[in-house]
Amino acid sequence: MDRVAIHFENLENGRVRCLLCPHRCVLSEGQIGFCGARKNVDGALVSLNYGEVTAIAMDPIEKKPLFHFNPGDQIFSVGTFGCNFKCGFCQNWTISQMQPETKKVMPEQLVKIAKLGRGSKGIAFTYNEPLIWFEFVLDTSRVAVKEGMYCVLVTNGFVEEGPFELLFQSVHAMNIDLKGFNREFYRKIGGDLDVVLRNIEKAHKAGVHVELTTLIIPGENDDIEELGREFEWIASLSKDIPLHISRYFPNYKYRIPPTPVEKLVEIYEVAREYLNFVYLGNVWDERYESTHCPDCGSLVIRRLGYEVEKVGLDGEGKCLKCGRQIARIFE
Ligand code: SF4
Repeated sequence: MDRVAIHFENLENGRVRCLLCPHRCVLSEGQIGFCGARKNVDGALVSLNYGEVTAIAMDPIEKKPLFHFNPGDQIFSVGTFGCNFKCGFCQNWTISQMQPETKKVMPEQLVKIAKLGRGSKGIAFTYNEPLIWFEFVLDTSRVAVKEGMYCVLVTNGFVEEGPFELLFQSVHAMNIDLKGFNREFYRKIGGDLDVVLRNIEKAHKAGVHVELTTLIIPGENDDIEELGREFEWIASLSKDIPLHISRYFPNYKYRIPPTPVEKLVEIYEVAREYLNFVYLGNVWDERYESTHCPDCGSLVIRRLGYEVEKVGLDGEGKCLKCGRQIARIFE
C-alpha cells in the first residue's frame, strides 16, 4: 500500500527531495529512490513498502543479535523490502536488493498477530533495513507500545537525525551495524561512517538499549589497528555497550572465503581490552558467546547457538552473585 512519506520537500517541475536518509534522493515524477522503497507519485513522495511484509517469524532475540535485552525471549520478527545501502556481501539480498512478493498487513493487525496470535512481548523490525520502512515502523511501534509491548530495530543506522529521534519514543532497543571504522569502506557500500557514529551516540544517549555488530570481511575491514580505534570509540561512549563480532561467509556478490576463526579470536582479544561484553557471531563456541559479570567474573548467561541458560541472572537483569546490572529487562 502506498502511503505519503513524512519527510520530503517539493522542488520545481514536480520533483521531490526525500529527507529521510542522507542520500537525499531528488526524484522526478515516477522515479524510485536509491533504496527502492520510495517513489515520486504525482509530485508527492510515497512509501512503497508501507504494510508490505516479506517475512514473519518467531526468532530468539539472540538471533538479532541482542544479548543484553530480555535475554532468552522469543520475539515476533518482521521485514519488508529495500535498503539504503548496497552491500555486495548482504546475507538478505533477496529482500534488500530485489522486490520479492509481499503480504499486506496494517499496523493494528500486525500487533494483534504478534501479541495474541504468537504470544510475543515484542516486535523486531529486521531482515531488511527498517529505517526505510519508516512510516510503517513508526505507526506499528506506537500501536505496540500502547499494547504494552517493546520494539527493537536491527539497522544500519543510516538515517537523518530528525526521523531517527522520532523513533526513540517507541523503540526500546537497537542492534546497529557498525560495518568497520573505515570511511572508504562505508563509501563503497553507499553509506557514511560519521552519520552512523553520530546515530549510535544519539540512540545510546537517548536511553535506547544499543548493541553493535561488526561483520569482519577478510581484506576489507579486518585491520587490527583500525578495529582498535573502533573499540576505543565505543568504549568512550560506554564500556558496557555489547559488541558482536561476526564471521563473514560468502554471499550475494562476494566470493572471498569465510573469515578464519583464528582471526576473529585475535580481534576478540583486542576488543576485550576495551569493552566488557564482546561476542563472536557465526562461530558457535560457548567461550565466545556466554556472558560473564565484569565485576565478579561469574558466569551469568551461558549460550551455545540459540540455547540460552540464565545461570547467574536475576529477574531484574542483575548478576545474582554481586548485583551488577548486566541486562535490561522489559516487563
Ligand atoms: S530513504 Fe530512500 S529515497 Fe529517501 S533519501 Fe534515502 S535512499 Fe533516497
